[in-house]
Amino acid sequence: MRECFVELGARRYPVRIGTNLLDDAAVLSALVPGRQALIVSDGNVAPLYLAKVQAALAGKTTGHFILPPGEQEKNLARFSEVLAALAVLGASRDVTVIALGGGVVGDLAGFAAASWMRGVRFVQLPTTLLAMVDSSVGGKTAVDLPAGKNLVGAFHQPSAVLADTATLATLPMRELRAGLAEVVKIGAIGDAAFFAWLEGQAEALLVREPEAIAEAIFHSCMHKAGVVARDETEQGERALLNFGHTFGHAIETEQEFGGLNHGEAVAVGMVLAARLSTALGRAPQADAERLEALLDRLGLPTVLPAGLAPETLLARMRLDKKAVSGQLRLILWRGIGRAEIVANVPETAVLQALRG
Ligand code: ADP
Ligand code: ZN
Repeated sequence: MRECFVELGARRYPVRIGTNLLDDAAVLSALVPGRQALIVSDGNVAPLYLAKVQAALAGKTTGHFILPPGEQEKNLARFSEVLAALAVLGASRDVTVIALGGGVVGDLAGFAAASWMRGVRFVQLPTTLLAMVDSSVGGKTAVDLPAGKNLVGAFHQPSAVLADTATLATLPMRELRAGLAEVVKIGAIGDAAFFAWLEGQAEALLVREPEAIAEAIFHSCMHKAGVVARDETEQGERALLNFGHTFGHAIETEQEFGGLNHGEAVAVGMVLAARLSTALGRAPQADAERLEALLDRLGLPTVLPAGLAPETLLARMRLDKKAVSGQLRLILWRGIGRAEIVANVPETAVLQALRG
């Protein structure tokens, strides 16, 4: 087992990564100090792993809320259903909300935990690579609105994150690749040596070689834990983790969940951000090419899906949370491992990047 901590003073918490962690009943039940727990999961994950969590919590009063799988479920209607499930449980302030699933479950359950009685204990049991390396760590919780992704939410840190890598055995290939996009992002924004390591491990990661996967998760979590500890509410450095995301969110929103998934959209977004950086004279072309090549080897898309109008995507990008009074603020880079926040990016250059 590997472990790192998100250092937030009294709210410090562990991120544990290992195989078969969900089989350890003692560890799981220790995550629920109160009498009650609500387990939130989805229709793919619950049949596979819910029983393990329930068995570990046999001595507690537990309820569960299972939502249909898919990003389109991360909405306000489902949010109020989770709250209703807490009400049915008779949840008091010592309840623990447990997210068992991918980023969708984690974001939704986390926002419910942040809101119920102004905030109750929250535990993340991520079952997708994407959630293990990114969304389960750092306390961002949210639901989507028709106007855009993650527009309503709260910062609410979990009390613990337990990533059981054995659950990745059942993860569909497309979801594994999506998680690898966020792993590449970590190297791209702040760690050239890790990026080079990923170039050497691409095949091992795709066949889920356990040591390579565990190392990739651990390294990504370590990086993110450090960033979150230094800048919990994204006043500065934490924004770098959004590399590729302003483009990516625009793609996702515009496609209305039918097209690319989050990791795929971020892959395309990172390539666009790298190309834009080159076009603005801020970064070498060769680094953009290395990024594109690595994503391509991991089976991720690197070009905009057909049928998306650049002007429409740009309009979506103006609504991004990083935009300040209508001015685009984007995460660009100086090259591999050197992301930076750039204000007042000229819209003509963005349009040109979107047109390819
Ligand atoms: P993400 O973590 O990428 O944000 P989701 O929460 O939407 O995404 O999960 C992606 C898909 O993978 C969903 O259909 C979900 O039900 C499914 N899933 C999550 N974890 C597993 C797993 N360990 N085994 C099989 N399917 C899983
Ligand atoms: Zn992301």
